[in-house]
Amino acid sequence: MFDPSRPQAPKIIAIANQKGGVGKTTTAINLAAALVEIGHRVLIVDLDPQGNASTGVGLLSENRAFTTYDLLLDEAPLSEVVQATSIQDLLITPATTDLSSADMEMVSNEKRSFLLHDALRQPAIDAFELDFILIDCPPSLSLLTVNAMVAADSVLVPLQSEFFALEGLSQLMLTVREVRQSANPKLRIEGVVLTMYDQRNNLSRLVEEDARQNLGELVFRTVIPRNVRISEAPSYALPVLEYDSASKGSQAYRALAMEIAEKQTTGGVKQ
Ligand code: ADP
Ligand code: MG
Repeated sequence: MFDPSRPQAPKIIAIANQKGGVGKTTTAINLAAALVEIGHRVLIVDLDPQGNASTGVGLLSENRAFTTYDLLLDEAPLSEVVQATSIQDLLITPATTDLSSADMEMVSNEKRSFLLHDALRQPAIDAFELDFILIDCPPSLSLLTVNAMVAADSVLVPLQSEFFALEGLSQLMLTVREVRQSANPKLRIEGVVLTMYDQRNNLSRLVEEDARQNLGELVFRTVIPRNVRISEAPSYALPVLEYDSASKGSQAYRALAMEIAEKQTTGGVKQ
């Protein structure tokens, strides 16, 4: 999707689902690592006060002097907030618990929905030569998530392969529609990715069938399997691709990255 008004603009993808524990942060970290592997430069914006994405890429708390909170509410320059990680070409704006008060503090700001949008469009962003920005959203449809959707080109939705998975999706899609109407008419759905998929489990297959029937083309061909290496990797502060490169989890995130990168080059964006 070449946008002539933003020749060097990175593609911005918000990873969102108001349910917790569905694989948002895992997808942010590992999709980012997989995009880096195929030659892209990627920034993760940690927008969750839990800061799991920051921890997951090995960012120590002493390196979180400036955080996404400062970017949103203290007008801290990008150059102060963006941190390198142990992985070359993978950058992050880290989060700490101070982000938990951001929602309340943003409410009175007249640009409250545009704070992340504006922060990521500072001219200084060009110096980072980014190809992708992945925003790891908190588990809610709060103002932080709305900021992510207003800032983004598209929304990627991890869907846990379990009962009631599709419940809550309509609420999320409603928020996407509202953001389109009020602030970001170009916002697209990047796709829905099934996570923690267990092939031996009937329920996983049923959820997949249900998702593909209801959402059709929106569902990525790639499904992310439940894989113990994926869940172990964060305790080593590494993406699974670095922790166990040959694991099924790593292979799946590589396949997802290929699907997203392909779409990027062919310009075929699912709606
Ligand atoms: P969210 O960010 O949506 O709250 P997380 O990405 O933190 O969800 O995932 C919740 C938990 O599930 C974490 O402990 C994570 O390690 C684990 N997890 C996520 N995806 C997988 C997977 N494919 N296989 C095994 N464990 C996973
Ligand atoms: Mg998370």
